Amino acid sequence: MMHYFMTWGAILLLALASCQPAHRSQNPAATLPWSVDSLLHANHTPTWEEAVDMAAALAASDARATLHEVGVSDVGRPIHALVLTGQPAEASTEREGVNARLKAQSDTVVRVLVNNAIHPGEPCGVNASLALASAWLAQPDHEGHPLRSASWVIVPQYNVGGASRRNCCTRANQNGPEAYGFRGNAANLDLNRDFVKMDSRNAEAFVSLFHDVDPDVFVDTHTSNGADYPYTMTLIATQADKAGPVLGPFLREVMEPALYAGMEAAHGPMVPYVYSLGETPEEGILSFLETPRYSTGYTTLFGTLGFTTEAHMLKPFPDRVQATHAFLEVLSSWIQNHGAEVKDVRRREELRIAQAQTLPVRWQLTDHRDALSFTGYAARREWSAVTQGTRLKYDRSSTWTQDIPHANRYDVTDSASVPQAWILPQAWRRVVERLQANGVNMTAIPRDTTMLLEVTWIESFTSSSRPYEGHHPVTVDSIRNELVPVDLYAGDWVIPSNQRAKRYLTEVLSPRGHDAFLVWNFFDAALQRKEYYSSYVFEDTAEDMLTNDENLRTRYTLAQAQHPEWAENPALALRWLYEQSPHNEGTANRHPVYAVPASTQP
Ligand SMILES: [Zn+2]
Repeated sequence: MMHYFMTWGAILLLALASCQPAHRSQNPAATLPWSVDSLLHANHTPTWEEAVDMAAALAASDARATLHEVGVSDVGRPIHALVLTGQPAEASTEREGVNARLKAQSDTVVRVLVNNAIHPGEPCGVNASLALASAWLAQPDHEGHPLRSASWVIVPQYNVGGASRRNCCTRANQNGPEAYGFRGNAANLDLNRDFVKMDSRNAEAFVSLFHDVDPDVFVDTHTSNGADYPYTMTLIATQADKAGPVLGPFLREVMEPALYAGMEAAHGPMVPYVYSLGETPEEGILSFLETPRYSTGYTTLFGTLGFTTEAHMLKPFPDRVQATHAFLEVLSSWIQNHGAEVKDVRRREELRIAQAQTLPVRWQLTDHRDALSFTGYAARREWSAVTQGTRLKYDRSSTWTQDIPHANRYDVTDSASVPQAWILPQAWRRVVERLQANGVNMTAIPRDTTMLLEVTWIESFTSSSRPYEGHHPVTVDSIRNELVPVDLYAGDWVIPSNQRAKRYLTEVLSPRGHDAFLVWNFFDAALQRKEYYSSYVFEDTAEDMLTNDENLRTRYTLAQAQHPEWAENPALALRWLYEQSPHNEGTANRHPVYAVPASTQP
């Protein structure tokens, strides 16, 4: 262990010394202060400083690579992106940033974004992508060079705060490396739940980079948790049914089979991520529904083909790095021959979204099970010397191969009709900021006005009692829609649905979306009554109302019949009458995103 500390310390000094972007070597591999070999074979993952210095050394060594600060993390240190392209950077475009670098490439070049160390305890991708970048740059440009068909944008370490909290042991079940970062970021957030709510500055940086890159393909690199089995690499592709009728079949029938076959040929068999339906994989596995809070769920909202690599935690770190490296190479090789298909499928997806009048916002696992050929270790239940109960043990000397159930199909359970436009009052500025960060086009209403709009009331909901990722998420049980006049102020926002962010907007602005802003507490203040009444005073008001309004009397009698529980709890009956009265404020539990129905003029 000390040996590595010495070696990597010396490497760091050398990297710092070689970090002069002005001079580009013709033979970069000869000048790098570290080797691809050590990245792929040592039980060591770079510290944040080392990773940045390695990326800087690569950028300094070859004009096809540039390193950019793309934002600031919650720990105050910058987040970097290493851009690799076939066309060398001009000095001017290098200064202009990531988007300018990519725009200088041909439109036919596929764009790939790789995010590493969102969970810094799972750093295989940090080593793998730096090794891959280094190997690619070691090859002079030629017909068939991987960077001719794809530009790669690599975030060396995304969770900078977590990566900087280096330790030996917090991944309790994991086999190396000898030190690594911590899962939570500086604000103890799991950044892989933060892509919609954007509590972290890291997420701000990611969203900005994501829209600058507009990637065709996205890869987020991880290490697994859970069962033991022989496979080193497992994969979560964005869930195909959720991806929709264009991206879904392409993923399920074309791209995923090619990646599985490519891995089998190049490195070893890969299986879908093992999310066991029961205690062990024999009982079957589940395809994860990565809703937009997760990286690939978020990137799917913009028609990107998203993948999460999950290298197996119990395999030695160098094996996991090599498997992640192999996956990225297989992906790169596949892109070289299928770039036009990728571009075409993204174009068709954009068209599908542009033409959609309704879009799904909620999915549920079906009872359908595919058969998946799987090799597992025999699982035994044994007496535990620790707890005196039974314990699970996998026997690596005994393997089985059989078809296991694969729960891989989801049905749409809720859709939202896409309005002509959404109206969002400026008062909800934290939502406005997040929409703007996502490049949403919106225009301010020029003067105070009243509009007839479709309004949603949240009739019944619950909030979680314990915090989850800094929130108490809201579960909506029932809603009601109504067309009502709404008073708006100059400066409130009109958000037309006819724009690139249409799917994103539909899922985050519909109260039914898995990761709607309502769910993440952005509209909690709307879910509370502000004015109240004293029952003993309102009793007399209610009596007058009933005496003077025959129609109300009839409706009250009907309501009493529908609510026998009022007999036990007269306050509920009085509240019903209050809600029928002009004293009722009328806006409690009103979702503050209004829809201009598709058929009306705004
Ligand atoms: Zn992870």
